[in-house]
Amino acid sequence: MINFTVGPVQSDKETLAIGKEQVPYFRTSEFSALMKENESILKNLFDCTEDSRAVFMTGSGTASMEAGIMNFFGKNDKVLVVNGGSFGHRLVELCALHELSYEEITLNYGEELTKEKLYSYEGKGFTGMALQLCETSTGVLYDMNMVGEFCKKNNIFLFVDAVSGFLADKFSMKNMNVNAAITGSQKALALPPGLSIIMMDQKAVERVQNANVKCMYFDLKDCLKNMERGQTPFTPAVSVLIQLNEKLKRIMKNGGVAEQNKIIAERAEYFRKQIAGLPFKMFVPQSYASNCVTALDATQCKLNAKEIFEKVKNEYKIWICPNAGDMAEKVFRVGHIGTISKKQIDKLVKALKKILA
Ligand SMILES: *Cc1c(COP(=O)(O)O)cnc(C)c1O
Repeated sequence: MINFTVGPVQSDKETLAIGKEQVPYFRTSEFSALMKENESILKNLFDCTEDSRAVFMTGSGTASMEAGIMNFFGKNDKVLVVNGGSFGHRLVELCALHELSYEEITLNYGEELTKEKLYSYEGKGFTGMALQLCETSTGVLYDMNMVGEFCKKNNIFLFVDAVSGFLADKFSMKNMNVNAAITGSQKALALPPGLSIIMMDQKAVERVQNANVKCMYFDLKDCLKNMERGQTPFTPAVSVLIQLNEKLKRIMKNGGVAEQNKIIAERAEYFRKQIAGLPFKMFVPQSYASNCVTALDATQCKLNAKEIFEKVKNEYKIWICPNAGDMAEKVFRVGHIGTISKKQIDKLVKALKKILA
């Protein structure tokens, strides 16, 4: 199978080779050093302030979304949440579940977050904001420079779910005034699922220290304390952390975050060019489309989006990414993260052409 989903995605051979090894014991100085190195390289890739701290959660991206909501926000906060798709909706659900005071900016699927819309929430007492970098369900990239400026001006704590956008889209915690951000192992890092990462600046660390979290596993105080010596409170996803270490070092050797951005952007551009002429409409205009994924409106095709997904899977052994809910029959997505060759993209385009001929 060729995998064009948005996670888990195709891994490099180096990552796969580590995956077949025995899992080593981890309460050792060697493993601690590896963890500290992971933190240090991730600080570079997130482009955050030198005093930022990382913690490693054993759990998929949603674990870090929930830990963030629980640790960064409390009963004295009023949180502004952007809901432009299923991941924005998840942030809203988390705010509701944890009984936070919040308001949502509801966007239609594929709609841009405009300055006008955002600033209509100014001066309303918000102390926190949470949103995605890339809303993976639609492929919308939010203007994080604009959001960060808004938050800085209004003294709002900014928590960004960059699970899919990390490495795919331009992102700098420092320059975008982001206080905390998360990513997951199975997206652009192209590792197996099971690990997510929370990067925090000093303000975020302070919020964690003052939080009153009624949960053992998701209390980040304990994670921060353990990470001082490169450890985690509980058994982490040891193998994935070792795969992460190899991958991070390889990224740094090969041009760092800028080169990752470039590779993924070029791949998205190549795919979008190749499908010109097919009866799809870009679900999101190029001006605010993420490089991570292309969502395609298939309503002008002779098959619906779900049928296209099934046919490509069963007849061509290719996974594209179906949409859920209201969009299931109208929209499908093609991911651009993970190890994907030009030849594989050509195969997919050829399959789509055959199916829709
Ligand atoms: C994939 C993803 C997540 C995490 O989903 P999990 O299935 O829990 O890993 C969170 N946010 C965004 C934007 C994502 O793309």
